[in-house]
Amino acid sequence: MTNIPNIKLNNDVLIPQFGLGVYKMQEKSEFMDAINWAFEAGYRHIDTAAYYGNEEWLGQAIKESGLAREELFITSKVWNADHGYEETKSAFEKTMKKLDLDYLDLYLIHWPSDNYVETWKAMEEFYKEGRIKSIGVSNFQIHHLQDLMSKTDVVPAVDQVETHPYFQQDELREFLLKNNIAHEAWGPLGHGKNDLFTDPILTKISESHNKTVAQVILRWHIQRNTIVFPKSVHKERLAQNIDIFDFELSDEEMTEIKKLETGKRFAANPDDKEFLAESAKKKID
Ligand code: NAD
Repeated sequence: MTNIPNIKLNNDVLIPQFGLGVYKMQEKSEFMDAINWAFEAGYRHIDTAAYYGNEEWLGQAIKESGLAREELFITSKVWNADHGYEETKSAFEKTMKKLDLDYLDLYLIHWPSDNYVETWKAMEEFYKEGRIKSIGVSNFQIHHLQDLMSKTDVVPAVDQVETHPYFQQDELREFLLKNNIAHEAWGPLGHGKNDLFTDPILTKISESHNKTVAQVILRWHIQRNTIVFPKSVHKERLAQNIDIFDFELSDEEMTEIKKLETGKRFAANPDDKEFLAESAKKKID
């Protein structure tokens, strides 16, 4: 079975550097198959969110897998409509009920929409009680992190942000490194929807290693010490995506990929106030 490296977070908790993201897995049988295939292939880290609507299925899949709780690393996120101290407390209880777990490995603020400081204070309490092993944020820019850290006690363990070869987040990465906050990449394959898979540089590198472009991109993330959890519901791709620990990109190849930066996001900008306000209106059950 694949030996997935761990990354040590700023509170000494170990997180598997590679896992499975389950955004947009909205059909139960598709979800259950994907999780089962992933567990069989050696995945032990799953990234979900209250917003994804599949926490309950994940709880069921974990039980049915027979895997020991301590073998797994489970992340969920508090949604934008649930910001605020009391709101976050009840959102967390709902998440735990759906997952049917005694503790959560990592809980994140999904987006920096209004009131994230109060949200964080509720998360800090669960963290101190041991019901959450690590707490972190997602889609936080440097200024959001500075603001949060100036007003609260616990430094986030991770920041989960859009990152792929066309949007590498170098400035934020440097800030995260300095502050001992781990970098998690969402959309590590650019959602599979753009020119990344036909990029000539990535294609050339993939051919020279006898790997796919997806594998080269994931390997690039791993060599930058980023935590990744690409999404797939296909057995063959799930196996392919985890099969990235038997080759290495050279310094020259890493430099070639560095040059692919475009400065353009594929998804929402965390500073887009209208997007944040609209998303905070979307209540989830
Ligand atoms: P991704 O970059 O992981 O791309 C997934 C898509 O790439 C798949 O749907 C498929 O079309 C394609 N793909 C996957 N493996 C492939 C392969 N081997 N060959 C060819 N195509 C392949 O995009 P994502 O799902 O948006 O991101 C991964 C995870 O990140 C999510 O599932 C979720 O857990 C997390 N995420 C978090 C946020 C956030 O705001 N915090 C936002 C988006 C996603």
